[in-house]
Parts: sequence; structure tokens; C-alpha cells
Amino acid sequence: MASILRQRIEQHCRLYHSEVVAIRRHLHANPELAFQEHHTADFIASKLEQYGIPYEKNVAKTGVVGFIEGKKKDKVIALRADMDALPITELNAVPYKSKNEGIMHACGHDAHSAMLLVAARILNDIRADLDGSIKLIFQPSEEVLPGGAKAMIEAGVLENPHVRHVIGQHVLPTMNSGKVGYRSGMYMASTDEIYLTVKGKGGHGATPDLNIDPVLIASHIVVTMQQVVSRIAPPTVPTVVSFGRFIAEGQTNVIPDEVKLSGILRTFNEEWREKAKAKITKLAEELAQSMGGSCEVNIVPGYPFVVNDPTLTENLKLFSKEYLGQRKVEELDMRMTAEDFAYYAHKVPSSFFRIGTKIRGKDITNLHTATFDIDEDALYRGMGNLAYIAFRTLEELPD
Ligand code: MN
Repeated sequence: MASILRQRIEQHCRLYHSEVVAIRRHLHANPELAFQEHHTADFIASKLEQYGIPYEKNVAKTGVVGFIEGKKKDKVIALRADMDALPITELNAVPYKSKNEGIMHACGHDAHSAMLLVAARILNDIRADLDGSIKLIFQPSEEVLPGGAKAMIEAGVLENPHVRHVIGQHVLPTMNSGKVGYRSGMYMASTDEIYLTVKGKGGHGATPDLNIDPVLIASHIVVTMQQVVSRIAPPTVPTVVSFGRFIAEGQTNVIPDEVKLSGILRTFNEEWREKAKAKITKLAEELAQSMGGSCEVNIVPGYPFVVNDPTLTENLKLFSKEYLGQRKVEELDMRMTAEDFAYYAHKVPSSFFRIGTKIRGKDITNLHTATFDIDEDALYRGMGNLAYIAFRTLEELPD
């Protein structure tokens, strides 16, 4: 049975191969920033219209939600793609180069939306045999806090009818094109943004006795914060504290009045995450006070950690092996990057997996760079795999 389904989906993939590439290129050439995905949403809606898939627009501002009705209307899983691009100027010389100055799809969200659209088309073609129904979530603003996923959930995307599982995929430029990777359990970290303003008393650099030096205080804070990781964090819970911004606008001989620091906290346990934020606040405040200054602390909460439901994930892994073959399915490592897919995963058992998009002979190791690109053959394998695992998930899901 599985092999008949595979052949059937592969036939559809061949039919729609040029379609998925054309959609990805159109989205890539016309990128839009978080919560401004108006053209993108219109385009996605027009495609759903063309495929005969009912949809709702303007969900959480620019989100689009489609619905493929199979044999059972109330047995529902969701497939999710994100739509937003980044404030980066594209440096690739490709025919589909970004036409919007300073904006670029450098995180593959163009590919995610294109694969979801065409996978939806395939699933809609065979919906008479689908053992349930599928919600298609095209969400805005994955890149900018507080994240489009949260807004989509608040707008009710997981209810009416209730969604049992959410499945999402993301490109991975270091994995061979067309491979997929899964991980059960903890996969990506929670994220919080730390903003510190260290206040002292500025003055001549040669009269330190008359000043309260915020540069020195801030330096101590940066060093001490590493103790949150090494001495306070439970050793079994991966934790990262990094400061990427340290602004002291003095001169060689001028000590400034204040220093601004910004950084991140990443970890994998909600209880510890709250404790860590309290600890960071206390350490920064009290350390500054002990040196005669003060510190204002502002921690902006970001996404929770991504946890992949083990039962669902093991099933998806098996389905991908059926569709792509054993050797095309990998086990992923945990990573300290973050994703707002986490919000779905904390609501219903979900799974977030990766699709390899490595371009042969090109060394693209990082997302969010001006030369980021994908191997477009991955779109073909990716949309077929997505349609297949969605079909099989409904088939195996108890009513
Ligand atoms: Mn992304």
C-alpha cells in the first residue's frame, strides 16, 4: 500500500515540478518583512484559489489558513510554513534575485511556503482517500518577536476543528539536498533578549578616583554572566548566555556615563529559564551597586524551546524512510537556535524537521546571510515527502 501511495505522489510531483520552482522563485524575488507579507499572502491565496482549496485570509494580520477536507472533517492535522523575509541586501546574481531593496529570503521561508503550497495541491488532488483533513498554516513573522505563531494560535488556528498535530519543516543548508532530518524530544532552544543599561559617573580617564566607571562595571557583568551558565545552570540543561552588543561611547581619555549591553539567553527548560532570568537580573543589579553604579535590566521574553513529540516524530521518520529511502533520513543534533514553531509544540504534540538544501560545490553554511541560497531539487523531494508524511500520519492516527 505504501509503495502505491509513493508512486502516486511521485507522479503528481513530476507534474508539478516546474510549479514549485516557479512559486519559490516568485516568492524569493518579492520578499516582505515580518507582518508586512501582504503580497505574499495574496499570492498564496491566489494559488489556493487556483487549486480549489478553501482558505481564510488576514488571520493574525497577514496569515493565510487553508483547509483540505478529506474523509473525516474532525480528524485534523496541520502543516505549517512561514512567510517572512529578513532585512538583508541579497548579494546573489541569480534571475530570481530580490527585487525589494534591503529585503531578502535568507532563511528559506520562500521554499517552505512553496513546498507547502504544492504539497497541498497534491493532497487536495487525492483528498478522496485522505483519512482526515489538513489545515495549511501560512504564518507571518517567524523572525521577529513575539512571533507570528503565537498570534496565529491566539487567532484560533488550532481549533474549529481541533488540530491534533502540527508538522513543520525548515531548510538546512549543511545537509545534503533532498535528505531530511528528525529529532525526538528537545530540539531547539528557548530564547530571551537581555538589555542592560549600566550607569556610573563619567569623567576624565586620568581621574578614575573621581568617576564611577561603567565600562569596568559592564565588563565585570559580562564575565560574571558566564557563571550563570557554568555555576548556576543545572549541568544537564544546555544553556547559553551571549552578549553581542557592548556600547560605551567614551573616548581614549573620556569615561562615559553609561554603557549599553544586549545579549541573549538560550536554554531548554521553562522552570530554569524563569530562574535564570531572575538570576541574571539580580547579578547585574547587585554587581553594579557593589561597584558604586547601577544597572537597569530589561529582559524581553522570546520563544519557548522546540520539543518534538517522540511518537509523532518516530512515525514521521518511518514515513520519510518509506518515501525517500533509509539513507535519506538522518538523526539531528540539538541546536541553540530558536523557532516560534515552539508555540505550536507546547500546545499540541508536534514535530519540526529539516530538509537538506545543500548546493554542490557551494559553501553555504549559514542561514541569514546575503549569499544564502538553496538547491532547488530539494523542493521536489521536499514537497513529495511533506505530502506523503501528512497522508500517512492521518492514516495511522486513531479516530
Ligand atoms: Mn527560519
